[in-house]
Amino acid sequence: MTAAQRNANRHRTIGQVRQQQLIARRSVVATAWAEGISHGLPVGDLLEELSILEFALIDQWPHLAEACLRRWVVADAAKLHDPDRGAYPGCTLCHEAARQAA
Ligand SMILES: [Zn+2]
Repeated sequence: MTAAQRNANRHRTIGQVRQQQLIARRSVVATAWAEGISHGLPVGDLLEELSILEFALIDQWPHLAEACLRRWVVADAAKLHDPDRGAYPGCTLCHEAARQAA
């Protein structure tokens, strides 16, 4: 392996790590957004961060727009729920409300 190949591989690895970090952060923010909006909490800051993360991801890795964006949005929408209809599995706010009510 040449130095140029090593450098290219190192650059690609750093890029992959950065992409995974941004995708992981996007998932955390999207979940907090879905939970917050389901419980009637203000989510403007989360929505702004979500938009910035998605813009950064699509700007740096354009293939994600087609490969992942729709799947992410569908998964986010699936987390929307009505807490008055019972605790939603996996929702930290429902879990906390149930814990406080106990
Ligand atoms: Zn909930």
